[in-house]
Amino acid sequence: MGKVYLTGAGPGDIDLLTIKALRVVKEADVIIYDRLANPDILKEAKDGCEFVYVGKEDKHHSLPQEEINEVIYQSALKHKTVVRLKGGDPFVFGRGGEEGIYLYERDIKFEFIPGITSAIAVPEYAGIPVTHRGVTVSFRVVTGHESKNKDHSQIPWENYKSDDTIIFLMGLHRLKIISKKLMEIGKPKDYPVAVISRGTTKYEKTVIGTLETIWELAKDLPTPALIVVGEVVKLREQLTWFEDKQ
Ligand code: SAH
Repeated sequence: MGKVYLTGAGPGDIDLLTIKALRVVKEADVIIYDRLANPDILKEAKDGCEFVYVGKEDKHHSLPQEEINEVIYQSALKHKTVVRLKGGDPFVFGRGGEEGIYLYERDIKFEFIPGITSAIAVPEYAGIPVTHRGVTVSFRVVTGHESKNKDHSQIPWENYKSDDTIIFLMGLHRLKIISKKLMEIGKPKDYPVAVISRGTTKYEKTVIGTLETIWELAKDLPTPALIVVGEVVKLREQLTWFEDKQ
């Protein structure tokens, strides 16, 4: 029986892979990877390493989580070193915990390897700090994706009245509703918002607007994309660096 490394692949830029993640990728007998993990990472694998794509889309899962769990488990029965490579960090909306529990229940050894999460790194590449002295003292990372039951919002909108920076993952297709909800709880309509598409890659694109304008400005951006809401967005004027180099 093998061991499974539940590994964060970072947000896109291959240079943001950790040394530990690179080490297990080089040792892997099989790599089970997501749509969001940069496929160039696979080039680092040894000859004969098997690759299994279990791609997930923003809006739908092309393989149900239960099946992914089973693929990982079956791989661990056959191989010594199994790498489960996931975009960003395995615990930030990455279902890494569920995969770990599935293995725990079947007596398979596992380790988690943290990755740089897109929630912080993508704004950083766009020149937006998630906290900034004198502007905001905290940030929240929230899913923009809601359950199919439209009558009941899982997102506790009332909690978002503070000046926290809010980073919405998986929210581009609901940007109009998100903006509307934030205005309903009292945020001004000129409150700053950024949408960053394909962050940390050469295709990175950032669109800046306000709660009132952003959905129209950003609606055609390609995914993956995340949304940053807060006064910190304005700091981009001074802190842009990455997109200028592209
Ligand atoms: N575990 C991942 C997040 C998984 S949820 C992490 O820690 O980064 C998937 C969401 O992450 C996407 O819908 C998008 O909102 C965001 N995301 C991931 N990579 C991104 C990128 N390169 N640019 C912009 N958003 C990204």
